[in-house]
Amino acid sequence: MSIEPTPAVNLSRKAPALIPFAGGAVLGTADGHSRRVGLAEAQKIFRSGFALVAHAAFVSGRLKTPPSSPVADVLELFAFVRPAQYCVPSPKGLARALGLTWPETDEDAALTLHIAASKLLDELRALGSGQRTRLAPLAANLIATGWRWGPEVADAIGAIGPSKSPIAGFDTWRELKHWEDEPDPGKPGSEPVGEAEAQARLVACIGASGEERAEQAAYLGAALYAFSPRERVGAPRIALVEAGTGVGKTLAYLAPSTLWAETNGPGLWISTYTRNLQRQISQELARFYPDPVEREEKVVVRKGRENYLCLLNFEEAVRGVALAPGQRTVALALIARWIGATNDGDVSGSGFPAFLGASLSLRDITDRRGECIYAACPHYRSCFIERVIRRARTAPIVIANHALVIAQATREAYALDETGDVPPDRPLRYVLDEGHHLFDAADSGFAAFLSGLEMAELRRWIRGPDGRFRTRMRGLEERLKDLVAGDADARAAMDEAISATTALPADGWLSRLHSGTSRGEAERFLACIYSQVLARNTDQEMAYSLEAELRPPNGELREQSRQLAVALNSLAAPMRRLALYLRRQMNDRADDLDTGQRGRIEAAARGLERRARIVLPTWIAMLHALEHDECAEEFVDWLEIVRDDGRDTDVGMRRHWIDPTIPLVSEILTPSHGALVTSATLRDVTDAEDWASADIRTGANHLNEPARRASFGSPFRYDQQSRIFIVRDIERRDLDQLAAALRELFLASGGGALGLFTAVKTLRAVERRISNALAEAGITLYAQHVDRLDTGTLVDLFRTEENSCLLGADALRDGVDVPGRSLRLAVFDKVPWPKPTILHKARRARFGRSYDEQLARLRLKQAFGRLIRTQQDRGCFVILEPRTPTRLLAAFPADAPVKRCGLAEAVAEIREFLAESR
Ligand code: SF4
Repeated sequence: MSIEPTPAVNLSRKAPALIPFAGGAVLGTADGHSRRVGLAEAQKIFRSGFALVAHAAFVSGRLKTPPSSPVADVLELFAFVRPAQYCVPSPKGLARALGLTWPETDEDAALTLHIAASKLLDELRALGSGQRTRLAPLAANLIATGWRWGPEVADAIGAIGPSKSPIAGFDTWRELKHWEDEPDPGKPGSEPVGEAEAQARLVACIGASGEERAEQAAYLGAALYAFSPRERVGAPRIALVEAGTGVGKTLAYLAPSTLWAETNGPGLWISTYTRNLQRQISQELARFYPDPVEREEKVVVRKGRENYLCLLNFEEAVRGVALAPGQRTVALALIARWIGATNDGDVSGSGFPAFLGASLSLRDITDRRGECIYAACPHYRSCFIERVIRRARTAPIVIANHALVIAQATREAYALDETGDVPPDRPLRYVLDEGHHLFDAADSGFAAFLSGLEMAELRRWIRGPDGRFRTRMRGLEERLKDLVAGDADARAAMDEAISATTALPADGWLSRLHSGTSRGEAERFLACIYSQVLARNTDQEMAYSLEAELRPPNGELREQSRQLAVALNSLAAPMRRLALYLRRQMNDRADDLDTGQRGRIEAAARGLERRARIVLPTWIAMLHALEHDECAEEFVDWLEIVRDDGRDTDVGMRRHWIDPTIPLVSEILTPSHGALVTSATLRDVTDAEDWASADIRTGANHLNEPARRASFGSPFRYDQQSRIFIVRDIERRDLDQLAAALRELFLASGGGALGLFTAVKTLRAVERRISNALAEAGITLYAQHVDRLDTGTLVDLFRTEENSCLLGADALRDGVDVPGRSLRLAVFDKVPWPKPTILHKARRARFGRSYDEQLARLRLKQAFGRLIRTQQDRGCFVILEPRTPTRLLAAFPADAPVKRCGLAEAVAEIREFLAESR
């Protein structure tokens, strides 16, 4: 029986397209008529579901109402028709992705949605009959789940039958190719890179674009030291090279990197701070390897495993909800389409339909809980994670991020102790771009948090979930029972470990903590922390995360620390015994274990060892410090209640290195043969001799052999390309004044402006006050912590829409890489001083009183550096704090004009200065 097209089949023509703006929406028909309606009418139409939108969750947030029935989201249709293709989730993003006329106004944007929908449906109709037949089962199931586009998609595909199976079409994992094991590439060589050869490669690469620069060639010469052979163990060749914006450092280090990797084989990791920058480096490598097949062989982008889709989790999610009506099922169907088209399974990559995150938690379809069962998994041979790990072992160049480099190095250092072998994926050379972030990356990577969530996760990993049954979250018992069968000692160790987890927090621990009914050693410990943190804070601070000094711990907290330490010791001991047994089994049964079994035992042993020999001993040492009221001088410990929007989410005790570059150097730099640490902002000041701040931020002062250092200034003419204003007549604590200042500045630049705030509360207050005025001027305002969009999407929207504005928390400055006119004005609501947290105070005591200024200057320098990216850019930078100390202004290039003036003067000059660049 065929499904007949229903009246909804004309949805894309009959329903109005809805484009929200502050205080209302534009409604547009398919024949190009449009009208503006107030908020109430816009809400009513949106709630009815009879509307075309782009990004339903975003629209819902803007209109402050959820839809009562599903709306027709054109992004969903795009994800169905063009899976794994990049599209910024907005009408303009659709226009760009589909090659449509650029919509200048909201009215144009409404028409764009109709045209986009119609074009996508035409593309479906134009598919060959084989492809349409393949899509039919998924379309049939989507109709059954009530997908708004279902009837139109069915109509475009042609007559389709009823669903034969609830997972038909969702099971695209069956189409994936299996990965093949590659032979061990052997150890990397140590051939140096010749300067003439490297310069020639750089010239060959940039020749086509004609951008040859003297600074760039000099930079390359300085970077070469990092690729020279090491002379003695523990003395890697480290080059610290700073290059002002515009030097072209990426191509200049890629030239010797590609040569070194081609000559010496796998063993070079290029690491940066954000995933977006990973993507950019990978794009730059296309200039060295234009042939996609060669590029695929030579380069792999590697991220942490939590970034890749876990096929087993996906299959379980599908089997759990298939055919259940609702957006979650629609999201799974669209992800199924993406699985069939993606190259790498990277859910943080540009082709993943990230807007689906509003309907489904990515935690559910990635491996974020450490539950991977490796070779026992039915998807093991097609697993995206296993595939990329293997490729990273044999690809000459790996593009990674600092967090992964740190996680990888600590795990591998540990494996080195266990096996005496150098693991095959241990890199020998690094290029650490965005080197100014190494300190922060090491700070997170080497920190420990003994918290409710962390301990509950460990409990789940060992004994499985407390309540809801899921096939593979059954804990150690289910994962290891066949491996320990027949060995009474191993079985006893496993039972002992499982039984010892009763000390750890169970599901519902946070509500029991609130109701005073905590049970077990860990929960009672957390309850003591909670009460001590509250007791040592003031009532006004209750909306945000709270922290408290450890000292002096109250008597009950000390006693609970002692009891929890005993319980954790009782857990670690049987886990270590079990891991030893598994290692022995690998040796004793070396002749009859197949590769899959060995891999599974290895993974189980590693999982146990990591927890029993790294995680638990660290926690026990922290508890010991708490019980005895002492702390090793290299660490700072504190207690914390973690809050999100005023809601408690976790409670625990933190331990951070005061100087996290100590482990960074010992675990990563010292064992390597060479590393280039580079950035546009390594140093705080511009004095060629002063590298003190760079040493602190990179750990260069802990090296056995001194690093080579070089710095190259920016070729930009900041006197002509930039203006800096310190506004001196604003009382920034008066929110009305602050908002009015931002409004006028944003209007003066005609958009393309970024507002950075040190407090989320201030950001929200300003957004409420200025969004209408900007909307009236045709400027779209996006805001972090207001719009229901992740940071990456917000920045994508801001980048795509040249005249939009973005408000973000101070930390956003690191993620905004927006060249060109889309970023022409940056406004700081105040000087970005570091927050005087317990951790920061400890660092200030260690690094000296100038540490605060150093950090503030580096932040200003980084933010300013984002404003001017090419010789064509013009940009203005504003600080709305009259008392900005003059000594902080050394953060800016010496030739950048700085003016202290009133708001009106700044507004007038900005308007005039930026108008000249149009
Ligand atoms: S091997 Fe692990 S990560 Fe890969 S699909 Fe299976 S369970 Fe998921």
